[in-house]
Amino acid sequence: MHDIIVVGAGPAGLTAAIYAVRANKKVLVLEALACGGQIINTSHIDNYPVAPHITGADFGKTLQKQAEDLGVEIEYDEVTHITPIEGGFKVESEDEEYSAKSVILATGTSPRKLGLENEDSFIGKGISYCATCDGGFYKGKTVAVNGGGNSALHEALYLSGICDKVYLIHRRDEFRADAALVDKVKTKDNIELVLNANITKLNGEKHLESIETDNGHTLNVSGLFVAIGRIPNAAGLVDGLELTDDYVASGEDCKTNIPGLFVAGDVRTKELRQLVTATSDGAIAATAAIDFTHE
Ligand SMILES: Cc1cc2nc3c(=O)[nH]c(=O)nc-3n(C[C@H](O)[C@H](O)[C@H](O)COP(=O)(O)OP(=O)(O)OC[C@H]3O[C@@H](n4cnc5c(N)ncnc54)[C@H](O)[C@@H]3O)c2cc1C
Repeated sequence: MHDIIVVGAGPAGLTAAIYAVRANKKVLVLEALACGGQIINTSHIDNYPVAPHITGADFGKTLQKQAEDLGVEIEYDEVTHITPIEGGFKVESEDEEYSAKSVILATGTSPRKLGLENEDSFIGKGISYCATCDGGFYKGKTVAVNGGGNSALHEALYLSGICDKVYLIHRRDEFRADAALVDKVKTKDNIELVLNANITKLNGEKHLESIETDNGHTLNVSGLFVAIGRIPNAAGLVDGLELTDDYVASGEDCKTNIPGLFVAGDVRTKELRQLVTATSDGAIAATAAIDFTHE
């Protein structure tokens, strides 16, 4: 049995693991996809102290190395269920079963999908949720970005430097994004705003060819970048876990309603979802989990 299992190797989970292993705890991190979490898809980070202009990929790699050098064990496995048992928790994936005295949930968030019928069949064939990851495939082409927040406008600006033309489709006539970002988008000749529009149909044979909106547009595009928000990775993981608006209900102490189960990072209820708050949560959750294993 491990002392502490951390679910998710993003900034919150890896920071928690660093704190726990330095307290001489036997720690296992389980990660479904790639170490570093959602930040590895970002081209640059400007607001994390002492690491100006670092790329998201370097942030993730450096954090992973720091954790592994300190002795953190990381396994690639997607956790499907966590159950409280006598003396701790059973943590299950499709093929494996692990156990620990305490668990820290640091599963972050995933991109929200449009929810259209054939959306999944176009993923990787025209539909993407990350311009930094996939924008290069659309060099010189016409693409669309859907969304009205900072992420969507960042994606549109990034793509305007690679693609011939970018449609920015938003369901309202005003953007939620910062004013400076909106002003910057408006200076770009190759970004066309399509406002008061919801995407209703995706057309194409094997690859996306066009999209239709509910205000009568049919736009011929090779790619569609969806940036309409993110959803927490918490639903169904733990029976009886209290959620608020799908996020794990917790205060700044990172405790959940289940003794011994702690939560860190973007997956919990909080005001600000950023690297600095995720790593802060990791430290707080680990300290609480360490104390719990001593009880
Ligand atoms: C495009 C973009 C740009 C950003 N730019 C900045 C920035 O410049 N500055 C800043 O401070 N913040 C930025 N952020 C926000 C920052 O990335 C997040 O606040 C931070 O990554 C949250 O860390 P986390 O560890 O809580 O979650 P995540 O980074 O989401 O990591 C969660 C990890 O858990 C894994 N996981 C999920 N479910 C399971 C499961 N069932 N089993 C096992 N593993 C699982 C996931 O694969 C993932 O690796 C940006 C986010 C995005 C999307």
